[in-house]
Amino acid sequence: MNHFPLFADLRNQSCLVVGGGEVAARKIGLLRRSGARVSVNASELNPELARQAKAGDIEHIPGPFNSGLIADAILVIAATSDRSVNAQVAEAAASLNRLCNVVDDAELSSCIIPAIVDRSPIVIAVGSGGDAPVLARRLRQQIETWLPDRIGELATWAGKWRTSVQARIGAHAGRLRFWESVFEGQAGRDVLAGNVEAADTRMQALLKDQESAAAGRGVAWIVGAGPGNPGLLTRRGMQLLQTADVVLHDRLVSREILEFARRDAQIVSVGKAPGGPSVSQEHINRQLVELVAAGHRVCRLKGGDPFVFGRGAEEINAVAAAGLNWEVVPGITSANGCAAAAGIPLTHRDHANAVTLVTAHRADGADGVDPDWSWLARGTQTLAIYMGVRRLQDVTRNLVEHGRPAGTAAALIENGTTERQRVVGGTLGDIAAIGAAAEIRPPALLIVGDVVGVADKLHDISNTLTDEPPTVAATN
Ligand code: SAH
Repeated sequence: MNHFPLFADLRNQSCLVVGGGEVAARKIGLLRRSGARVSVNASELNPELARQAKAGDIEHIPGPFNSGLIADAILVIAATSDRSVNAQVAEAAASLNRLCNVVDDAELSSCIIPAIVDRSPIVIAVGSGGDAPVLARRLRQQIETWLPDRIGELATWAGKWRTSVQARIGAHAGRLRFWESVFEGQAGRDVLAGNVEAADTRMQALLKDQESAAAGRGVAWIVGAGPGNPGLLTRRGMQLLQTADVVLHDRLVSREILEFARRDAQIVSVGKAPGGPSVSQEHINRQLVELVAAGHRVCRLKGGDPFVFGRGAEEINAVAAAGLNWEVVPGITSANGCAAAAGIPLTHRDHANAVTLVTAHRADGADGVDPDWSWLARGTQTLAIYMGVRRLQDVTRNLVEHGRPAGTAAALIENGTTERQRVVGGTLGDIAAIGAAAEIRPPALLIVGDVVGVADKLHDISNTLTDEPPTVAATN
């Protein structure tokens, strides 16, 4: 291929044509159809060009050619009958790096104007590299007879529907299939038969079908990602994560876990950082419903278990209320994960016959329900307290005030199960101070109960990355 084929946008671009005869007039006609601004340099114009110049459609520059005329032309066409003038134009254009076509002279030309079939917006160009312009023209004629008359209308009609199709069919491959079926099907035939109205009606129906098919395919998978360590994700969770088109994840979900998502999946963080900027639950619900309704398979990946302080139920409700499909996949909740990673049994035949998962947060800031402290302080239960870092002082004081002995063993586990896990131990009386001194940050879990004392290998593993399972740190 000796020439690079391209369609150039010449609207309002300056083009210079040298020559004022019939050949020049033909090229000028073509340039004007493309919206170019045409200047014609010729000592004399033929009557048609003279008329156009007079009407202000083209600019006439009389007198002999000089290279200064090329100054702001993006394209130059030499169409005089004098080869030496044409050569002079070509040379001047080349020295200024402008493309120049010399009519019927491939040797002097740096670009060729092909034979064209113009059924705008469909334009077919045929070139022969300058070797056989007549053959190119014959080919053009054959294409003309073979092309449906209204092929241009079909393209314009498709252009009109393009954005609607794009909005309804997200996947590129799906859109390709859709358009193929439109052009091959009745809608395409309607346009070619001149019946645009029927085609529009059919297109509306096709898009509606597409929407319901898409809605049938869409699903919300509410998946528990576990406490952080990728090994603790369930197999079902992993499977769905690897299949999903879109992943909406909490801030707590680790990067290692997100690595399992499909390479082309859209990954969206809807993280709620404690005290930091957050995406409201209503917004997350809405986003989830919209994505599923559009036919996406959405993996809503949540830290720990979706139903343990995860607001998973609110998301299912939103999806179900919209008549859409959902599935919940449980995850290892951080109480389980942290207890296992720190070697603390949550129940023990000698020390605890119950375990309570409780949040130190009130449900909705100040308006929520406060924990029932006297009940939590009672008996031989183990407490796993979520979201407690900021209220550590408050929580431990309340438990002691309501009767839990200040000497009860307690442990704080930060980033449990991950490589960044830190564990500090103490008692109800001093764990708040110990946590503050160790600068324990969220996410961290407080475990309270005699079971904490059962974890006997107590040594500080702060900031150490080992292959050993972490254990509870000793304190005095
Ligand atoms: N649905 C989650 C809980 C979300 S609430 C679950 O089942 O685990 C967020 C709280 O979970 C944090 O404030 C913290 O108390 C706890 N948490 C989550 N991941 C944790 C981790 N890796 N280590 C310690 N605590 C964690």
